[in-house]
Amino acid sequence: MATLIRNATLPDGRTGQDLLCEGGRVAAVGPQLVAPPHAELIDAQGWLLSPPFVDAHFHMDATLSYGLPRVNDSGTLLEGIALWGELKPTLQQDAIVERALQYCDWAVAKGLLAIRSHVDVCDPRLLAVEALLHVKQQVKPYLDLQLVAFPQDGVLRSPGAFEQLKRALALGVDVVGGIPHFERTMADGAESVRLLCELAAERGLRVDMHCDESDDPLSRHIETLAFHTQRLGLQGRVTGSHLTSMHSMDNYYVSKLIPLMAEAQVNAVANPLINITLQGRHDTYPKRRGMTRVPELMAAGITVGFGHDCVMDPWYSLGTGDMLEVAQMGLHVGQMTSQAQMRSCFDAVTVNSARILGLEGYGLEPGCRADFVLLQARSPVEALRLRAARLIVVRGGAVVARSPAASAELHLPGRPPLVDWTLRR
Ligand SMILES: [Zn+2]
Repeated sequence: MATLIRNATLPDGRTGQDLLCEGGRVAAVGPQLVAPPHAELIDAQGWLLSPPFVDAHFHMDATLSYGLPRVNDSGTLLEGIALWGELKPTLQQDAIVERALQYCDWAVAKGLLAIRSHVDVCDPRLLAVEALLHVKQQVKPYLDLQLVAFPQDGVLRSPGAFEQLKRALALGVDVVGGIPHFERTMADGAESVRLLCELAAERGLRVDMHCDESDDPLSRHIETLAFHTQRLGLQGRVTGSHLTSMHSMDNYYVSKLIPLMAEAQVNAVANPLINITLQGRHDTYPKRRGMTRVPELMAAGITVGFGHDCVMDPWYSLGTGDMLEVAQMGLHVGQMTSQAQMRSCFDAVTVNSARILGLEGYGLEPGCRADFVLLQARSPVEALRLRAARLIVVRGGAVVARSPAASAELHLPGRPPLVDWTLRR
């Protein structure tokens, strides 16, 4: 079955483009392509056609559990971890599956078709691991779910965690996780990084660690992560998530650190909604923002993705699966207001995150997977400004979700009806 999308604007600015999709892949891109017989036709009406959104950092085992068993009063990361610890023994597998599937529905409706989710392995039952492996299979036709074996309570600090982590990998979890700043000492944190990177190298897996998620300027596990990445030949396959301590670090030290990260090709993931909410909680005024140094990392050539991290869970009580909301927060917190920087915030929730996940066939070129989101905007920056409606979401050449265009019943004398908020010039 072929699908022909007519008259799209592409993220690189090309207008009037048609995309022919055959066998779930992009077959051709160009102006005025000839429709094969029986092809389904979609009129993009000049709106922006992008590859789908990609979330580089999420926790699907906790999502939509808000209020269970209570809410986070202090709003801190540590109370969130304690609350998750209270919830964990009462978790039911079918309830995790149901909440995760509901979230995946929301995600697809928002054009989010690939998610890297951490899954807590600090539970001897590995209940959440089994639940999310089941979800991964169920959503496969419409969403790529990549799982990270995440030792929430510390791979060294939590008894049995390393064995459970290896069991999770044996069951089919894709990526090695870690949380060095939560180990008992800086030395244990560094040891956990070594241990986990060596495990990943042995097994040919990617690494994504919660790294230095604190306001402590001396939390420097990212340096160790970059070191072992280079030592073990894992360049391009290792990600430091959060890296919020970099916000508070000494500038001289950072001027040495960022080139080391670039040399090791370590990727970085910021979680703007969560970082701005959880960090700086021990400050009076001025309050630190806590997000890592996104523009500086990008300027050094490091691949930076944005993650949603949490939606309605012990750490965050809001969220909808909208990666444009995530990117907009990142833009504001990082003061990334030049045209190029705004554009790079769109990349952080699309191409950059796809690279971090190692997604096969991501993009709009012939041969790529026919996965798209049609946004009611004329450019990536406009999509950010408007948090544009996801008019159509396409997976493998077939429409999987639609949303109505934003419009208003406004008919002033002598004025055309208001149908969109794009600049008409
Ligand atoms: Zn996280």
